[in-house]
Amino acid sequence: MAIPYSKEQSTRHAAKDIKEKAKPKPIPKMSEKKKAELEDWKLWTVSQFKKASKEIKKENKQVFEKPKKTPLTDIKKDLDVIYSLVVRMSPSNLEGYTNCVTCGKTDHWSKLQNGHFIKRSIAPSLIFTRINTHPQCLRCNVLLEGNRIPYQRFMWDKYGTTVVSRLELEGQKKSNNGAFEYQIMIEEYIELFLIQCERLNHTPNQKQQKIINKWKQ
Ligand SMILES: [Zn+2]
Repeated sequence: MAIPYSKEQSTRHAAKDIKEKAKPKPIPKMSEKKKAELEDWKLWTVSQFKKASKEIKKENKQVFEKPKKTPLTDIKKDLDVIYSLVVRMSPSNLEGYTNCVTCGKTDHWSKLQNGHFIKRSIAPSLIFTRINTHPQCLRCNVLLEGNRIPYQRFMWDKYGTTVVSRLELEGQKKSNNGAFEYQIMIEEYIELFLIQCERLNHTPNQKQQKIINKWKQ
């Protein structure tokens, strides 16, 4: 291995290096135009600076501001309407009749409700999960608060105990869905709703049509 310098030489070189580094770097030459601009700025008053800053902000806002997005609560509200229709219409016969899953009462889908097996307040992540939602009558869903024991029996019979246990575990998780996921869901459920409309010969009412127009691509 070659030793480039003696100890004394190395020290001298190191000292030279330090000196070189300490030298101020030459300032790049400024054009006359730039100099004049800078001189102008130096003469500006505070109010002139404020005015210029406001103008720049205004310009940036026009160029860079994103269009306002629909708030998440709005998407969820619209999805809830369409989702509920699909839950009640899908199991109906061609005359539009189906049963309450907990008491067996037969009624038209428009008179039934979207009943959650695990309630919305307990499992927000399962609000739009199909196996957690079925048609129920007003009495079972509201007055009997879901009619829990018959609902449990219905779930075990339809899906089996393992699936129901998994669903209950799933309900303990936090929902990771954001606006993007809900938007995909609403588009999908609008499609499903329109299929049911055709099958059951239902014309969307004003409220339903408004949601369709808002979200359908
Ligand atoms: Zn019922």
